[in-house]
Amino acid sequence: MKVKMILPALAEAESPFWRPIKYSLFPPLGLATLAAYLDPEDEIDLQDQHVETLNLDDNPDLVVIQVYITNAYRAYKIADHYREKGAYVILGGLHVTSLPEEAAPHADTIFLGPGEETFPAFLKDFKNNQAKKRYFSAKRTLAGIPPIRRDLIKRNRYLVPNSIVVTRGCPHHCDFCYKDAFFEGGKSFYTQQVDDALAEIDRLPGKHLYFLDDHLLGNYRFASGLFEGMKGMNRVFQGAATVDSILRGDLIEKAAEAGLRSVFVGFETFSPENLKQSNKKQNLKKDYEAAVNRLHSLGIMINGSFVFGLDDDGQDVFKRTVDWGVQNAITTSTYHILTPYPGTKLFKDMDAQNRIVTRNWDMYDTRSVVYKTTKLTAQELKEGYDWAYKEFYSWSNIFEASLKHDSAKHKLKHLFYTGGWKKFEPVWNFLIKTKSLNNMLPVLESILSKVRSTGNTKNKYAEDSINEPVERENLYNKKRIKYKLHDFHEKINA
Ligand code: SF4
Repeated sequence: MKVKMILPALAEAESPFWRPIKYSLFPPLGLATLAAYLDPEDEIDLQDQHVETLNLDDNPDLVVIQVYITNAYRAYKIADHYREKGAYVILGGLHVTSLPEEAAPHADTIFLGPGEETFPAFLKDFKNNQAKKRYFSAKRTLAGIPPIRRDLIKRNRYLVPNSIVVTRGCPHHCDFCYKDAFFEGGKSFYTQQVDDALAEIDRLPGKHLYFLDDHLLGNYRFASGLFEGMKGMNRVFQGAATVDSILRGDLIEKAAEAGLRSVFVGFETFSPENLKQSNKKQNLKKDYEAAVNRLHSLGIMINGSFVFGLDDDGQDVFKRTVDWGVQNAITTSTYHILTPYPGTKLFKDMDAQNRIVTRNWDMYDTRSVVYKTTKLTAQELKEGYDWAYKEFYSWSNIFEASLKHDSAKHKLKHLFYTGGWKKFEPVWNFLIKTKSLNNMLPVLESILSKVRSTGNTKNKYAEDSINEPVERENLYNKKRIKYKLHDFHEKINA
């Protein structure tokens, strides 16, 4: 059987602000995961429109398309095209799960929720000519999933071909997040077996890994087993975690010991009102600066995520957020305009209040204002968002933030990572054009190498500046007491 698997490009791909490198980072892991359920005899062509021109002149028997909100219209066109040619077309992904009635007319079969159980069930039915119109995932487990078909991935077209996912979902329930809509009707956070995850890591060449999990530290037992197993594997890795998980216990130390060198943290907002509005309880009353200092003391760089446009945001939010990032030596910042994705509680609430101003999904790109704002006008929000990006990534702020670290190596790492990411677009474009992006991996690995002398100027707990074992032990105990007290305060404040 001839199978075509397609990740259509997001609408942002046509924007004048399109940065090709941003969309050449990770291969379509979800499709490569599903491909593992196909027969080894099947002829599979996996195409990612972000890094290659789609070949639509072929005649596959089965077409599998992954649909996100801003590639939905494009995905439907591709689906219609292949159905006209007589192929059997299936659609799945976040947007299909949120709006199945919209997607269904463009597909022979649609998938709701994760596909690990439903895709093999579909394949069985398909072979018996009994495929259903709709498959809904109820049973959620990662036990026994076959190894991802990484052979289908064109590694040289991605900066981070070694992306990996070892959990699904997240234990939290933020109102603006897709997670609850996607996992509705079953478990919304579950993990692989530690041994399976380690085996998957072992199959990956090179040193660098990027965990695309929503919350790598979300399950203590799993994460500590994983990090224990990774010790000695000589890996450097990046991943995502919450403020709360960074402050609690010793998991972040274990992660650093296993090779964690950079982490994506959802700070989102400094306003308790906004946190309550978004049900982001895990960030309430948390000391963001303590989390930052703890990460810096472990030599971990930080990608901070921030949302603009929540109802408590006034005109000062942009400058305050940028200044905080620079003063706290955040390595990279990702800013978003609040976006009420269909299927989320935020969308339902805004819709009920008649605040949704457009249902053109191409605009749901977190750079456009698609709802009625409160304290800010839509124009102020858009201009403030654009200003924040420009300002945070100005050379003067990149230098100022870099210099906050107290070790020369950490300063340089910060400078190269941030400057390299945002200021060398022609170099990235050249590497993409020549399909040699993968050659930059050793550079990334060396930037992510361990910082011996750690911590920023505010941090008095930099372990590597202590030589004597006794001193080190005292420091460790002090640190433990400090964080234990923090946990205690959190508990009595909860
Ligand atoms: S913590 Fe992150 S992944 Fe989890 S529900 Fe909130 S926004 Fe979604």
